[in-house]
Amino acid sequence: MRTAVVVGGGPGGLAVSGALARSGWRVTLLERADRIRPEPTAVVLWPNGIRALRAMDLAGGLDAIATPLPDGGVRRPDGHWLVQPRQTPVERLPVVVHREDLHDALIAGLGERVELRTGVTVRTVRVTPGERPAVGDGRQTFEADLVVAADGADSVIRRQLAPEASLISSGCAAWRAVIPWYRAPSLPESVSGEILGAGYRFVAASLGDRGSSGASSRGGIHWMATAAGAPRPEPPETQLALLRRWYAGWPAPVDELLAATDPGDLVQQEIRELRPLPRAYGFPAGPGGVVLLGDAAHAMPPHLGQGTCLAFEDAATLAVLLRESTLPDAVLAYDRARRPRTAVVVRQTRRMSAVLRARGRLALRARDAALGTITPRLLGSAAAVATQWRPPTSSS
Ligand SMILES: Cc1cc2nc3c(=O)[nH]c(=O)nc-3n(C[C@H](O)[C@H](O)[C@H](O)COP(=O)(O)OP(=O)(O)OC[C@H]3O[C@@H](n4cnc5c(N)ncnc54)[C@H](O)[C@@H]3O)c2cc1C
Repeated sequence: MRTAVVVGGGPGGLAVSGALARSGWRVTLLERADRIRPEPTAVVLWPNGIRALRAMDLAGGLDAIATPLPDGGVRRPDGHWLVQPRQTPVERLPVVVHREDLHDALIAGLGERVELRTGVTVRTVRVTPGERPAVGDGRQTFEADLVVAADGADSVIRRQLAPEASLISSGCAAWRAVIPWYRAPSLPESVSGEILGAGYRFVAASLGDRGSSGASSRGGIHWMATAAGAPRPEPPETQLALLRRWYAGWPAPVDELLAATDPGDLVQQEIRELRPLPRAYGFPAGPGGVVLLGDAAHAMPPHLGQGTCLAFEDAATLAVLLRESTLPDAVLAYDRARRPRTAVVVRQTRRMSAVLRARGRLALRARDAALGTITPRLLGSAAAVATQWRPPTSSS
């Protein structure tokens, strides 16, 4: 039986572990935290991410936990439409899912062939031609035919195998919260949509319906605010007060949502990205090799909401390639398939970052012009990228 060590119990690591186990691999999943627990926020899954989950046979419980996200359009803070809402067929809509529900669903998909070891912090990786690939935590070495580095943006494995890829700040910070239904403001309809201003962005989405008896008890209204600049060192109460000041006067329901948010709901994060991307995502070694997957390979700002979706694409692609090729060939084929694909999405995301980060009066005027012209085109092509991806089939 072929063996794999997967490093990292985020969405990418959980998905690839489940997919490999379903294909008959024996998998050891190493996670540094004491338990696998995502942050209490939500994630948008675009059709490409959903399709990847389906290809891995991991989308079983998705309908029960996901809420379709109707196209709410994009507005400026003065209410002017940059992109009008469109009627999108329901099968092409993204969905929004609470991250804890997504993790529970992925953990349920692990099955019995995955040994989950928490509290293991990987520090070293071995990639030498004649030996099986391995990782170590300083006390123990974990060898396998294949090592999957799904250890996120700070990946120690990538730092050793692809030191040319630097993790840098994208020059902005993000705040997110899920306001549970019992505290959420009463709004006329389900929340969906995006507002783009000078260096600031606000998006919101309903997670389930108020009073619905769906499978998730984690429903509410999710919002994310992005602002140019560094994360704030102040306590959450002060951060929330700042957000209320920055976004004062923005179109409804921004004020209502920020007013209903408790400081304890707030999750602040610096936005970082890999620049340049690694020169390779696959490193042959012994009978197999090491591959980089998810944020470990291509961490990017969340402006197009594609990070988790691409991690699922990586996992689905790897699973198919491993079924139809020899192991060393699959490692190289994975690299060939995934680098161009992820580079396209990274390029689109960087253009969006440049528009959002503009500072200074002149830059702001150019940015306002860009918001009116580039943004609709960019969002249109990003949506196309999201909907067009198909998992490789056995004959491709
Ligand atoms: C503000 C924000 C909003 C976002 N919104 C969206 C969205 O709407 N849609 C979307 O698709 N994406 C979104 N993303 C991106 C998404 O969160 C990431 O792309 C996704 O979490 C990457 O998954 P991953 O499994 O590759 O890495 P991670 O989620 O980072 O998981 C890595 C795991 O590895 C573990 N680990 C790390 N180092 C070690 C080690 N040395 N040894 C053992 N374990 C280790 C960590 O503890 C963690 O559990 C957003 C990101 C941000 C910051």
